[in-house]
Amino acid sequence: MAMNRVQFQPGLSMPEFLQQFGTEAQCEAALETARWPRGFVCPRCGGGARTSFVRAGLRYWECADCAHQCSLISGTMFEATKLSLTIWFLAMQLLTQAKNNVSALELRRQIGVSYRTAWLMKHKIMESMRLREEPRELDGRVEMDDAYLGGERSGGKRGRGSENKVPIVAAVQTTPEGKPVVACLRQQPHTEQEVAVFAASHLATSASVITDGLWCFQATAIIGASHERVVTGGGRASVELPQFKAINTLLGNLKTAISGTYHAFGFAKYAHRYLAEFQYRFNRRFNMRTLLTRLLHAMAAAPASPERALRCAEIHR
Ligand SMILES: [Zn+2]
Repeated sequence: MAMNRVQFQPGLSMPEFLQQFGTEAQCEAALETARWPRGFVCPRCGGGARTSFVRAGLRYWECADCAHQCSLISGTMFEATKLSLTIWFLAMQLLTQAKNNVSALELRRQIGVSYRTAWLMKHKIMESMRLREEPRELDGRVEMDDAYLGGERSGGKRGRGSENKVPIVAAVQTTPEGKPVVACLRQQPHTEQEVAVFAASHLATSASVITDGLWCFQATAIIGASHERVVTGGGRASVELPQFKAINTLLGNLKTAISGTYHAFGFAKYAHRYLAEFQYRFNRRFNMRTLLTRLLHAMAAAPASPERALRCAEIHR
């Protein structure tokens, strides 16, 4: 069974993690390899290194062509951090190897930093995941649906939850037999125009889309993907239809993960990033052992994202 393949695979155990990434020198070497696998490349002009030196505990490289000076972390998602890389790696290990989502509050407890620091680390990691998943395209057999997430009361007044409900569109590429392969989730209104943007961005024209949503059906028609609209009338009946098993399972797992980990308001404001985290992990669920290294590459390739940019709630497109 697919679930067993995920649950029983060997991950990166904590002793193995500590052996590989337990010291600052090991983490620096891993980041350097991830960022510059063939040696320093100047981020400004693409030139090679003239020299490297250590200043205030940080190693810098100087470009042979344009004299630009660059540290290992500048221009990456780690830019300007005051934390040691060992703490960052520990956070990345926890966020990739835990069975369920790890909230900023839990991260704070586990690695012993302030809540604000834990929140920033978590959002920088999620933003790197989002950037990696942004060009995701599904092909072949695709189950697609729209849904609402969140909206549960988070200690506020009665009935206030609904304003935090987040409309999303979800699609899962499956095998011809209906086993889930990869997924794509987007926070967006359920209008025909917006769903058409989703389809144009994330569905190959050769995809064969199965949906019971009217908007989804019309939108996929716009991009020219072949489609099959199954009229279910919604409710319990649609959950039981075998045509929608993969998408319904995915949405069920997503709702459980989110309601168990995040407060409704926090989720609504940063839903695009929480969805990307879920999608990133889902799409790599068969490769637990390499998840940390892959995430390191994503963090090295992502541009620096200061706190004010991360706290801006706009949806990036
Ligand atoms: Zn240069």
